[in-house]
Amino acid sequence: MNTGVKGEDVLILEAREAVSGATGRNAGHIRPDAFRGFSAFSSIHGPDQAKKIIESERVVLEKVKHFIAAHSVDCDFVDTTTMDVCLTKEFEDYQAKSFAAFKAAGGDVSHVKYYQGNEAKSKSRNKDALSVYEWPAASNHPAKLTQWILSDFIRKGGRIWTHCPVTKVVKHKLTGQFRWDVHTPRGVVRADTVIHCTNAYAPALLPHLINFITPLRAQAHAYVATPPISGEKIIRSTLSLRYSLYHFFSLIQRPNDGIVIMGGSSVKTAEASEQIAASKETYDDGEVSEQMADNSNKQFNELYREPGSTKARAGEGLAHVWTGILGMTTDSVPLVGPIEGLDGQWICAGFNGHGMARIFLCAPGLVKLISGGSWESTGLPECFRSTRVEIKGSESNVRSLL
Ligand SMILES: Cc1cc2nc3c(=O)[nH]c(=O)nc-3n(C[C@H](O)[C@H](O)[C@H](O)COP(=O)(O)OP(=O)(O)OC[C@H]3O[C@@H](n4cnc5c(N)ncnc54)[C@H](O)[C@@H]3O)c2cc1C
Repeated sequence: MNTGVKGEDVLILEAREAVSGATGRNAGHIRPDAFRGFSAFSSIHGPDQAKKIIESERVVLEKVKHFIAAHSVDCDFVDTTTMDVCLTKEFEDYQAKSFAAFKAAGGDVSHVKYYQGNEAKSKSRNKDALSVYEWPAASNHPAKLTQWILSDFIRKGGRIWTHCPVTKVVKHKLTGQFRWDVHTPRGVVRADTVIHCTNAYAPALLPHLINFITPLRAQAHAYVATPPISGEKIIRSTLSLRYSLYHFFSLIQRPNDGIVIMGGSSVKTAEASEQIAASKETYDDGEVSEQMADNSNKQFNELYREPGSTKARAGEGLAHVWTGILGMTTDSVPLVGPIEGLDGQWICAGFNGHGMARIFLCAPGLVKLISGGSWESTGLPECFRSTRVEIKGSESNVRSLL
């Protein structure tokens, strides 16, 4: 709407409740990748693109910060730092290699602090920490932020129809005025421009993406703070407790109520075998994995139970567990732009579990493209272009690495 499109010309069709997808369920990290993904992105997209991907996430952090401040959005936003806590030699080596490779490619690491030994242990408050990398990041309550954005959209005349799943999008033939008929159980909406922002669910309406975007269930756990992390002892940075690239726990502690949100690792490797069974390629976000919850509880208790206590006091510890569905792409980066062959249809999806560090650049970028802007005007890495997936032959051999 800030580009001149009138509010009343925009309609959001949402299959379920507003903010019921991954965005309303996520762990709240606005955590740009500072260098870690460089090696993996490089192996898929080359070093130039890998560098751009990482740089773009830093821009997103600034954009989110600016947006929230400019609109005074009440979403428990915390401007802080984040730490990658290396808990094994294997992961420490991986980090060191990625750091060196990113730096050698001209990447800016001046904002990244590095600690070893006792300093790493005390910074991360983790006795097993071998080393720690720390850089600027933020946390928030993602459902509150998204509800604010949707309310603002409605204030500006936009409409959202909830519990209104799109079942198909077909060529409009009746009048010459529109390009597409968008079918829902509540009727047909005629439209000239259709944007697919359905993330993991995109292949349901765009079958050519069936092998390109796959669902992966992630799980989050909320804990009532224990004495070692209560009051003044609250954990002020967000953390990624890393045993390996794929075996990790993410953590934020909300300063207003002390609640700790812990996410478990969700991607497959031999090392993270107990996590593998817990994460599933499924669209079902109504179930939780007991195994994943057990792993998370074990980690929380090891780190934050009061020394000497054998069990949590009443009211402390695990409060709630929930799941949500990530949209993983075979080459680890999102799809942004037009859908070739379907003139007037666009996509912004495939965030690989990292939407909070990407969407604030991808969504405005897509709007620029729809308004006739060039790819350069979006500020996005070229490897995000949606046109890399053809409507025919979309099979890809590249597995998601991040
Ligand atoms: C447990 C968990 C923790 C996470 N933690 C983090 C984190 O800390 N930091 C981070 O950066 N990312 C995190 N993520 C990932 C992040 O939430 C996603 O990358 C991001 O929310 C994706 O946003 P989206 O709008 O593309 O998808 P979604 O929020 O999933 O929105 C897609 C919407 O499309 C709707 N839809 C689907 N099909 C149809 C249809 N046919 N018709 C109409 N509507 C339809 C769905 O109902 C849904 O509301 C986490 C995800 C989960 C599940």
